[in-house]
Amino acid sequence: MHEAWSNHEVWVYECQNCGRTWDEEFEARHVADGHGGEAVAYEHDGHSCTTPWTDHMCPDCQRARVKAWPAPWRRHRAVPPTRKGDDLELVFRLRRLHAY
Ligand SMILES: [Zn+2]
Repeated sequence: MHEAWSNHEVWVYECQNCGRTWDEEFEARHVADGHGGEAVAYEHDGHSCTTPWTDHMCPDCQRARVKAWPAPWRRHRAVPPTRKGDDLELVFRLRRLHAY
């Protein structure tokens, strides 16, 4: 059985063509691959999407010259809207890893 957990991420974008900036919110779903590794799948508005730093287009000038970086200072939602039970799952996981 694979374990999965998710966290909320905010990414900031800046168009290198017209200078517009904006941000987008993602859910990063982490899935253990069963071999000690981890795969991450991103969701945006409930739909799976490519990674936040690729394939972005400026909403103003429609150019793809967009710079992206994660915005840790914008984590206004400290607790992501996860399903009930996810937090408990995380606690169990950390205990198994002897994280605390
Ligand atoms: Zn632009």
